[in-house]
Amino acid sequence: MLRIPRIVKNFSSFFVRAGHQCYLVGGAVRDMLMGGKVQDFDIATDALPGQVTDIFHRVIPTGIKHGTVTVLFKGTRFEVTTFRIDREYRDGRRPETVAFSPSIEEDLKRRDFTINAMAYDLQEHRLLDPHGGRKDLKAGIIRAIGDPLQRFQEDGLRPVRACRFAAQLGFTIEDHTFACIPRSLDTVKQVSAERFRDELIRILEAPAPSIGFNLLNDCGILRLFMPELIACQEVGQGDLHRYDLYHHLLYACDAAPQDNLVVRLAALLHDLGKPRTMTRTPEGALHFHGHEELSARLAEKILRRLRFPNQVVKRVSHLAAQHMFHYEERWSDAAVRRFVARIGVENIPDILCLRRADQLAMVGEHFVSTSLIALEKRIEEVLAKDRILSLKDLAVNGDDLIAELGIPRGPKIGIVLRALLESVLEDPQQNERERLLKMAERFYEARLRED
Ligand code: ATP
Ligand code: MG
Repeated sequence: MLRIPRIVKNFSSFFVRAGHQCYLVGGAVRDMLMGGKVQDFDIATDALPGQVTDIFHRVIPTGIKHGTVTVLFKGTRFEVTTFRIDREYRDGRRPETVAFSPSIEEDLKRRDFTINAMAYDLQEHRLLDPHGGRKDLKAGIIRAIGDPLQRFQEDGLRPVRACRFAAQLGFTIEDHTFACIPRSLDTVKQVSAERFRDELIRILEAPAPSIGFNLLNDCGILRLFMPELIACQEVGQGDLHRYDLYHHLLYACDAAPQDNLVVRLAALLHDLGKPRTMTRTPEGALHFHGHEELSARLAEKILRRLRFPNQVVKRVSHLAAQHMFHYEERWSDAAVRRFVARIGVENIPDILCLRRADQLAMVGEHFVSTSLIALEKRIEEVLAKDRILSLKDLAVNGDDLIAELGIPRGPKIGIVLRALLESVLEDPQQNERERLLKMAERFYEARLRED
């Protein structure tokens, strides 16, 4: 018997009182059987969405077309779906129509994998496992329900999910299930960018995303959605590196913090520009001049294509663009400040994480360069002294320049302010209003004024 949280028991009693069935399904059952933490509760019931809405106060019609509503019950979210039979898969994206069913057994048949097709009866307290999910869970196997080829042709996302669960749970995909993926690629190709992205995010949240990427690659899916990564295969990187570029990127991604999606994406994409910038000296040494800018552009292109939110796109491409820095002890405080200003103080923890992951994925051993630790310490010291790092920290602003010096409103104001910031980064003592106004005036007269 499963140890069901009190809140779930409490929730289910409302269904029972209304004369309905109530099952815990999907990831919650799987994760409880594995003894892990449960993220969210999926509930299956014979009650129709309208009936669920009548039972509870706070119901959001999240996926009403597919029979799903979200119930907020005493601070916990429950995704409640009416038992379904899927009908007609027209183009392998989503069922065209759903039909409701009175039976949990029918509902379990339409689910993707055996480990996801168990239901826990919250009234009778027993596990329904018609597809042998428990056995596969014990053995660590992802197995499609029914004929994998047919199931993948119904919904091309399922092969992607197989790779996702393999990475997330550290499982293997059953041979026949896996063998049917290459034959389903025409359907996988139809999957929307958003649905692929959501599975990709789950892969990136796994302990070792490389497991997921290698599987996606082996069965041909990676090429469909991220061909830029395929182009990194077998690209050498010179003596310092132990792996080809493709594996370097995968291992950097593994080495990035599991709970930081932006750094994991940046690690995966930070060197994508290398294949196209590679040059070889007559002595045979490899160079990749300017690869970081190209990597940033490619990262942006991929993430936009996969419909990642703008903030994520911007942060990842900024990290990729800035990942090539070389700290030396002889950097002056001003150099450290300029570095922080260029990266943005809010991005410093991320760029250090990215660099650490990058280094770990070069030699493949536990290794953190001492210079990175030294840089981190220097940044702390410098920030403790002065936190003047951006235009808004200056003792004057654009309005002051307009009012006091009569510089016309427009782009020249920005140029003057940036010049002031350069000087203040060099010497924070200069950050006084009168001094800056004088400097601004001199700079403007000498460089920008046109009579
Ligand atoms: P997680 O804990 O990561 O959320 P999950 O198994 O709950 O894992 P969801 O994407 O939340 O995954 O889906 C809930 C359940 O719905 C799955 O366990 C599975 O039974 C079913 N399911 C989801 N997507 C599909 C699909 N594309 N085809 C068939 N069944 C699916
Ligand atoms: Mg779930």
